[in-house]
Amino acid sequence: MSEYSEDRMIDGEQKSEDATAESDGSFRPLELSDFTGQKVACENLSIFIEAAKSRSDVLDHVLFAGPPGLGKTTLAQIVARELGVNFKATSGPVIAKSGDLAALLTNLDEGDVLFIDEIHRLSPAVEEILYPAMEDFQLDLIIGEGPAARSVRIELAPFTLVAATTRTGLLTTPLRDRFGIPIRLEYYNTEELCKIVERGARVLGVNMSSDGALEIARRARGTPRVAGRLLRRVRDFAIVAKQDRIDKEIADASLTRLEVDHIGLDKMDHKYLNIIAKNYHGGPVGADTIAAAMSEGRDSIEEVIEPYLIQLGFVSRTPRGRTLTPQAFAHLGMSVPNNPALIQGNLFEDRDLNQ
Ligand code: ADP
Repeated sequence: MSEYSEDRMIDGEQKSEDATAESDGSFRPLELSDFTGQKVACENLSIFIEAAKSRSDVLDHVLFAGPPGLGKTTLAQIVARELGVNFKATSGPVIAKSGDLAALLTNLDEGDVLFIDEIHRLSPAVEEILYPAMEDFQLDLIIGEGPAARSVRIELAPFTLVAATTRTGLLTTPLRDRFGIPIRLEYYNTEELCKIVERGARVLGVNMSSDGALEIARRARGTPRVAGRLLRRVRDFAIVAKQDRIDKEIADASLTRLEVDHIGLDKMDHKYLNIIAKNYHGGPVGADTIAAAMSEGRDSIEEVIEPYLIQLGFVSRTPRGRTLTPQAFAHLGMSVPNNPALIQGNLFEDRDLNQ
């Protein structure tokens, strides 16, 4: 990711500042009842947890999928807490060798939750070890090399793997199939985000009006992590402006200064939209061309900028490239150009490309 992306106020990826704010734990809801939104997911989880507890059995493996910052780690911690078991966390890229995973698994007590973030980034060799561990609570390890190599089997304490991924499409089918409880997290609506901002303000000890919370919620791109980050920045502005209460005006003024517009788009989103709108009359234009025009990597265009614009219905990914929708032109204050490819492009629209 470029430095420019790293500076963005409004992407859901965890930044070092969030890590500090999130690690003190106070920001995260600790129980399902305190967790706002994702109603169906929470109801289902609560039933499965209840059932596992009454059967005195371990909970089936859980897979949380969805964009960054929607609460996957938070829910994983809640699952462990509600089950009354230990929570051990790691992430896909950190587990370099099968021995690393073996060390983690053999250290688990019965019923413990092992959380693997970014599970789509596990190496294939490590994934192989994970299959029997998930299915039969057994580890099959090869010790040594060449003719002296032998395989040893280690029995594991039954455990629950809770995994998170931002890219379900990158998971291999055998791995995906081994999760008994797959849960997809959705972007939050403004009302839910409002509650999250109000809760965050209480945690931070900030006095906030409901229209102030609404102003932050509307710009948080459906993502609690962004809501928390915007809240902390608005609080800073309020402190410097010696305002003891955050209202709509101060929230609006602070976020406008941070170049986050009233629906949460920043200058990078605007640059992206303007390139397609002005240079290519609304498209279609290929991701590589946009990436070059923005001096960004293609990955960062596809994973960081586009998801929310697609979610808003501003951009379509078509097999021939990206096109803008009439809503995008309306947001830019432009009229839709007379470009036949736009109508045709939308006919060929392939939502699967958006995964
Ligand atoms: P993910 O693992 O999906 O990237 P996290 O679980 O780390 O996201 O959540 C990011 C931040 O958003 C955390 O500070 C967390 O407390 C907050 N958060 C996420 N979901 C909620 C929610 N439903 N209610 C309140 N805060 C939330």
